[in-house]
Amino acid sequence: MLEKIVALCKRRGFIFPGSEIYGGLAGTWDYGPLGVQLKKNIKDIWWKDTVQLRDDIVGLDAAILMNPKIWEASGHIEAFVDPLIECKICHERFRADKKQEVKEHEETKHGSKGDWTQPRKFHGLVKAYLGVVEGQEQLLYLRPEITQGVHVNFKNVVDSTRIKIPFGIAQFGKAFRNEITPGNFTFRSREFEQMEVQYFVKPDEQESLRIFESWKKERMDWYVDLGLSEERLRFKDHAPDERAHYAKAATDIEYHFPWGWDEVMGIHHRADWDLSRHEKYSGQNMKYKDPVTGEEYTPWDIETSAGVDRSLLFLLVDAYREEGDRVYLKLHPALSPYKAAVFPLLSNKPELVKLAKRIYDDLRPQFMTAWDDRGNIGKRYYSQDELGTPFCVTVDFDTLLDKKVTIRDRDTMKQERIAIKELVNYFTDKLNV
Ligand code: ATP
Repeated sequence: MLEKIVALCKRRGFIFPGSEIYGGLAGTWDYGPLGVQLKKNIKDIWWKDTVQLRDDIVGLDAAILMNPKIWEASGHIEAFVDPLIECKICHERFRADKKQEVKEHEETKHGSKGDWTQPRKFHGLVKAYLGVVEGQEQLLYLRPEITQGVHVNFKNVVDSTRIKIPFGIAQFGKAFRNEITPGNFTFRSREFEQMEVQYFVKPDEQESLRIFESWKKERMDWYVDLGLSEERLRFKDHAPDERAHYAKAATDIEYHFPWGWDEVMGIHHRADWDLSRHEKYSGQNMKYKDPVTGEEYTPWDIETSAGVDRSLLFLLVDAYREEGDRVYLKLHPALSPYKAAVFPLLSNKPELVKLAKRIYDDLRPQFMTAWDDRGNIGKRYYSQDELGTPFCVTVDFDTLLDKKVTIRDRDTMKQERIAIKELVNYFTDKLNV
């Protein structure tokens, strides 16, 4: 199943291996014309629901390169390490805590007999060097998570917007990790994108846990509303000994991938860990002053952190359908890279082509629209099915007389006749989440 999706992604321009013509670069992926549009749609829908439609959340886009003291404050320099073990037989390296991967390696490569080195600490931060004077470059780190950009801007956001607690700051952007075993296609990459909300609340045990629970529901509902199969999604609560010492609660949203259940989002109650550490390391006051009561305190933070790439991958896995020789992506129309494709029934009939082009030009300002006049209609349908295009619009000889087109639905393959002047309304109705 995963192999089929990888092949489809390459064939139809969703995702390509990074640096492919130079033999690739492990753990990096390039999004092609269809992939970049799908990714943009995920982020646009998320931004609309998270920022545009809410009074209590504002956006931010912080720099990837940050003062390295930030990573001291966040604890990453000290603690962003994974236990690395090496197979003494073939020298492949693994994360000792990924027990399933270790077991699979033993079983498939060495007949269940493992011979491993002792675990040693392996640092996950990706280093970068900045500066123009040879030998005096500053050592930096490419951010391993986007979270800290929010915390270091907490005061800036409060002062510039006057937003009041409880409130959230939303952000998406790239993060980089020196993963020991990148794999499962884009699932574990060394460069990836995250989308997060840090939601700041009063330091109150009961109330903050209530808000934590409401975020769990909200985030799960978001995926379900996008049409994902509910039975393939679940919460996985972290036991107290599995979570960071400062975390008051932590849950993952997991999806049932072709290789089993795995994480797509973390929902973490981070308490005052980040803000109080930044206060200590920067010497700046990071407290919040209630504008009404004058009360001053360090807020607690409830974080929801999702991978854009992982979300995109599980949306593709969930949408992938095979029916005989027909392959189609049953994506929610709001996610589909193209919303409609327009075809003239025959490409050698100028009157059909001319009218179809006009319809195409009228739709394009409103929706991403594809054009196809190659081969026969059946082939064009199949081709759009693989891209997840929900509607195909065909201009035929009747169109010239009755000003109606045939619309073919991707999922049901049913066809109906719709007046040209109704098309924009017809699509607008179906494209909302
Ligand atoms: P894992 O246990 O899978 O390494 P994590 O618990 O370290 O993940 P977080 O630090 O909580 O992940 O990051 C939040 C989200 O960022 C994850 O739920 C995931 O969707 C995404 N993410 C993290 N690491 C990667 C990666 N290497 N490649 C792609 N997405 C990632």
